[in-house]
Amino acid sequence: MRVTDLIRQHQGKPFLSFEFFPPKEADAWPRFFETVDRLKKLDPLFVSVTYGAGGGAQDNTLEIVSGIQQDHGLETISHLTCVQASEDRISNFLAQLTSVGATNVLALRGDPPKGCGDTFVPDNERFRHASDLIEFIKEQHPEICIGVACYPEPHPESPSVKEDVKWARHKLGLADFAITQLFFDNRIYFEFVEKLAAQGVNKPVIPAVLPIPSVQSAKFILGLCGANIPGKLLLALEKADAEGGVEATAEVGRDFAREQIKGLLEGGAPGVHLYTLNRADHCLSVLEGLDL
Ligand SMILES: Cc1cc2nc3c(=O)[nH]c(=O)nc-3n(C[C@H](O)[C@H](O)[C@H](O)COP(=O)(O)OP(=O)(O)OC[C@H]3O[C@@H](n4cnc5c(N)ncnc54)[C@H](O)[C@@H]3O)c2cc1C
Repeated sequence: MRVTDLIRQHQGKPFLSFEFFPPKEADAWPRFFETVDRLKKLDPLFVSVTYGAGGGAQDNTLEIVSGIQQDHGLETISHLTCVQASEDRISNFLAQLTSVGATNVLALRGDPPKGCGDTFVPDNERFRHASDLIEFIKEQHPEICIGVACYPEPHPESPSVKEDVKWARHKLGLADFAITQLFFDNRIYFEFVEKLAAQGVNKPVIPAVLPIPSVQSAKFILGLCGANIPGKLLLALEKADAEGGVEATAEVGRDFAREQIKGLLEGGAPGVHLYTLNRADHCLSVLEGLDL
């Protein structure tokens, strides 16, 4: 089912959704699917699976999406990027996706692959931006529900907030919904949604939350996406790490994420998308006690 229909059917009640990344090695898949099943108990409205993010293999995405959608009964969004894209390759991907009953795609430009520098160079003039991919998907599969990425803190390549909002508006004009980049200050999410609404964009913008598991992974992920971490949170994580080690640090990350989710839902966000990092225990304890 289309994600936007699922959201509509939920009738304004807050929902949860989860992002997973496909494990690179097939022998890690059984454990991965156990993680999916454990988090399925929280009744997510849908889940999403990344595509080649951080250097991951693109082909695994299809198989993992197919496994979750068909065998685990969860509505699954496949991420798809312009990296190594060609019309044939994307057509083939979409045909396989729809053949397993998946009807949702998160259309992205992607980042430069590992070892290819910091500047994104399109592999193909046809697919320079996420908006090119959206147009292609719409032409080939009008039945697919298309989501896009958007950035409450502007995308690192955007020269200004105004320019960033301009392209977010353009993409959301073509697509059906958006999922945000991670952020730690809820005010910037609500301000961003207001800026879009002021320009007539009222499609669902689902905020995404990262429950930080460790100082090391926080630094790695922030390095990849360019989001800012509040100094107070960073200090608390570093103090916990120095005094109590990994478990104490994870607790700080969990507590922060739980409060952030509460604030987002109380403030009127339609739901929350959790970057799970494929960690069931960490996510389960973040969501423990939250009344959804
Ligand atoms: C929720 C989410 C999920 C993600 N999942 C993945 C994943 O699975 N795999 C992966 O590799 N990466 C993923 N990413 C990272 C994403 O690929 C990067 O953030 C990338 O740098 C930008 O992707 P985009 O789709 O926003 O690109 P675009 O929309 O193309 O935007 C890139 C830059 O160009 C500007 N821009 C946009 N359209 C135009 C236009 N038509 N003309 C001129 N300028 C324009 C934008 O303002 C922005 O500065 C994800 C990001 C988010 C937020």
